[in-house]
Amino acid sequence: MTESMIIIGGGPAGYTAAIYAARSDLKPLLIEGKMPGGQLTTTSEVENFPGFPKGVQGGELTSMMRAQADRFGTRFVSDEVISVDFSSQPLIVRTADGSYESQTVIIATGASATRLGIPSEQEYYGRGVSACATCDGFFFKGKKIAVVGGGDSAMEEATFLTRFAESVTVIVRKDELRASKIMQERAKANPKISFVWNSEVREVLGDGTRVTAIRLFNNKTNDIADLPIEGVFVAIGHKPSADAFKGQIELDEKGYIVTRPHSTQTNVEGVFAAGDVADPHYRQAITAAGSGCTAAIEAERFLSAREEN
Ligand code: NDP
Repeated sequence: MTESMIIIGGGPAGYTAAIYAARSDLKPLLIEGKMPGGQLTTTSEVENFPGFPKGVQGGELTSMMRAQADRFGTRFVSDEVISVDFSSQPLIVRTADGSYESQTVIIATGASATRLGIPSEQEYYGRGVSACATCDGFFFKGKKIAVVGGGDSAMEEATFLTRFAESVTVIVRKDELRASKIMQERAKANPKISFVWNSEVREVLGDGTRVTAIRLFNNKTNDIADLPIEGVFVAIGHKPSADAFKGQIELDEKGYIVTRPHSTQTNVEGVFAAGDVADPHYRQAITAAGSGCTAAIEAERFLSAREEN
């Protein structure tokens, strides 16, 4: 059986695409992977999603989106997409458990923030350790915090966080920044921002519920020192979840899916991409949801145009 539409990914982009497609009576099949809800499930409270003036838990928000997609007839499969064949119609999507054919595919597999990979980071994730200043900065009003990284993301997050924090210490593992000149200069000119060079975070220290400090290793002097802070923002890059599509659609040099300007259309007819897997810039739940809506509408128009011909 050839499906009209397969949506890959169970986050805000995928669920929103499913709501729109299901309401257009396309009966989409959504393959949601092993971690339904996506990155939102790893944040605590979401306070910037319109419609929730009192905030909402990330997991609760995606559960509600899923329920809304379900209400209009989305079919869900819990499986991991391993490979695809987009060389001709119908498009083929292969999972661990089977193979599906479809006229259109919306890829909404998201991205993941690169982590430091130390056990204490995981222990305090959402309790002082964060990978998103826009999401969590507000919780650090008047506090001393650290940002890890030396790229544009780290500079942007550090600068943004000075709106809330008393001070922001940027931890850089080299003695120079990778960030663009303008972003470096902006951060360096900010009196609330200071830099600790040649330093790696060895451990996040806490009292069991909250972060109290980070243990730093100076890779020039081999010294170990604890820096008292209440929050640590890890800004060492993101990785789009697009490995299964390599060689089948165009990816940029960082691995993000390339879409046409102001569109979710990829370089393959009938294949659309929405949310963080195609967005290195904004990475917000609301922008992901918005592009999921766009993808569903574009896919629906693609199907209608095919029917007419
Ligand atoms: P980048 O890959 O550019 O930078 C990552 C930074 O994190 C580097 O300084 C790197 O150090 C450091 N790092 C990596 N791994 C570790 C680790 N394990 N421990 C400590 N430090 C580590 O990623 P970004 O997210 O900053 O930027 C991604 C892309 O997005 C870039 O092209 C950037 O220009 C763009 N961007 C643009 C913005 C804007 O223009 N407004 C805002 C944000 C991002 P090292 O240098 O030693 O490798």
